This record gives sequence, C-alpha cells and structure tokens, in this order.
Amino acid sequence: AAAAPGALAREVHSLSEYFNLLTRARRDAGPSSGSVPRPADGHARPPAEQLAPRDVFIAVKTTRKFHRARLDLLLETWISRHKEMTFIFTDGEDEALAKHTGNVVNTNCSAAHSRQALSCKMAVEYDRFIESGRKWFCHVDDDNYVNLRALLRLLASYLHTQDVYIGKPSLDRPIQATERVSENKVRPVHFWFATGGAGFCISRGLALKMSPWASGGHFMSTAERIRLPDDCTIGYIVEALLGVPLIRSGLFHSHLENLQQVPASELHEQVTLSYGMFENKRNAVHVKGPFSVEADPSRFRSIHCHLYPDTPWCPHTAIF
Ligand code: UDP
Ligand code: MN
Repeated sequence: AAAAPGALAREVHSLSEYFNLLTRARRDAGPSSGSVPRPADGHARPPAEQLAPRDVFIAVKTTRKFHRARLDLLLETWISRHKEMTFIFTDGEDEALAKHTGNVVNTNCSAAHSRQALSCKMAVEYDRFIESGRKWFCHVDDDNYVNLRALLRLLASYLHTQDVYIGKPSLDRPIQATERVSENKVRPVHFWFATGGAGFCISRGLALKMSPWASGGHFMSTAERIRLPDDCTIGYIVEALLGVPLIRSGLFHSHLENLQQVPASELHEQVTLSYGMFENKRNAVHVKGPFSVEADPSRFRSIHCHLYPDTPWCPHTAIF
C-alpha cells in the first residue's frame, strides 16, 4: 500500500492476464478485503429526487444454461418484488421463463463466455435501456441479489440528469490497458471500472453521453479497441473517454470478496450481494436462518426473508 502510484501499475494485454490481475489484486488486498470500507453511502446521503421503481432499469445478464440453476432463485426472491424493474438478457429461448416474466430479452448473442459474447450482451442492455426512457441503468449478474429498497434509496440521493457511474472497483488501483488509436498505433490508458460481478449503475444523463461509443454496434468496436471485458469497457468509456470518475460504493458486493464479512445487521443497507467461490472456498453471506445452509446454500432465500418477512413462503418464525 506504501508503493508510489504507478509503481504497481501493470499492462494488461489479454483476458487471462486480466484475471490474474484480479486474483493478485485480491491477494494484495488481504483477507479483510471487500477492500472498500463500508461507508454508509446512500443511507447517510439525503434524497435528491423522488424515484419510483419504474424509473430504474435493472439488466440481469444470464445464459441459457443458468436459467434453472440461477435465475429461478432470483425470480422467486428479489425480482418477484418488482418485476417491472427487471429485464433479463439471455442467449436462448425458454418458454417456461417467458411465462413467468414478460421482460426477457433474447440477445441472439453467442452463449460462449468469450469477451465478444459478453460485450454483445452489454451492448443490447445499453440499447434497451436508452429505448426505455428510464432514469437509471443498473447491470447485475445472475448470481447477484439486489436489495431494491436500498438501491432506490442510493439512486434517489443523486440526480439522474447528472453524470453518475457508481459501483465497486474490483482492483485497488486503476487498470492499465492499451488503447488502439489507429490501424498500427496503440497508447497506454488507465482508468477505474466497477466490477460487473458486484453490479453497477449509470444515470441517464451519463448514459446519453456514452452513446457515440456505446450505442448500436459501437460498444462492440469500443470493446475491441481495448480488448477487455464488458465491465472494463464501460469504465473505459466513462472514465477514460468522458472523464467522469467512478463513485466507489461499499454497498455493492461480488463473490470476489469475502461475503462472510457483511454483517447481518447491515443487510438492509447493502445494495447488491452475491454467492460463489472465493479463494477456492464456498462464499456466501452469513445469515443464521430461517433456512439451513443445505436448503439455501446461496443464502438468498434467508436474506430475502430477512428483508421481506411478509413473503408467503417465509417461515413465520422469520418475522423479526
Ligand atoms: N455468463 C454468460 N455467458 C456464459 C457464462 C456466463 O452470459 O457463457 C454470465 C453469467 O450468467 C453471469 C456472468 O456472465 O451473469 C458471470 O458468470 P459467472 O458468475 O459464471 O462467472 P464469474 O463470476 O466467475 O465471472
Ligand atoms: Mn459470478
């Protein structure tokens, strides 16, 4: 942490290098990472404007093979509370899913976990958001729990007409990349980006300014210019091309941090949560009940009952 700025900077030339960098950044940040302290942002900030659920466009990125394995859990928990806020971006038809919810977008993007396929989905998410006319764009993965009340509270503390890009940086320093400026000319560029796995939000004011690099087919070609994943490309457009700084929030959480460190008493304030693997171990939020870890390994059902005890399938003992 004492090193001079830039001394730790690294050039990133490929996807595998980028993932190595993330792994390293996690190690550097140490076991007590999450690494961003948990300020009461959003919660301490006074409201700046009135916000209704319909003002927010939440894009959930998924893929056909995760519809049953991951998406159904989200539909039963947080999505069920405000279906009108959520749009599911996937890559394959699914009648069962279409019956359950109207807002399913088949992107026709490839189902591969490639940089191009993921950028293709982000490009469609962006275009659909612009078309929707809504005030806020938020992107999450299909292993995120979104606390809709906390999200609305956070966004309402900013003006959607201003330039707002908010989320959690996954590195503890700006990413160093190489930007292709012409056929045979590249130059170094560095910027912060919000990790897609923790979710992030962008105001309409800022999203409209991103249009020359993000709309239509432009997002894909911008992603090719720096050859980095979709979430980095967003950071590149916002920070490097538009000069708008990322607002760091400790209220967004991915499974690249130790989720056990989110105190159950602060669940109400957190905007996103996740589950998955961290340093080769199962990683999930620590909440006591009402469901056992075996019945609810992601802890999302327990979290949901904690936040919405009036849910019909929550055991009555869960009312706090
Ligand atoms: N994903 C996708 N296509 C794929 C694999 C994954 O769109 O071929 C999505 C997945 O649904 C999730 C996100 O990409 O929303 C991240 O995937 P995952 O959680 O499996 O990976 P990690 O968090 O380790 O990057
Ligand atoms: Mn994940």
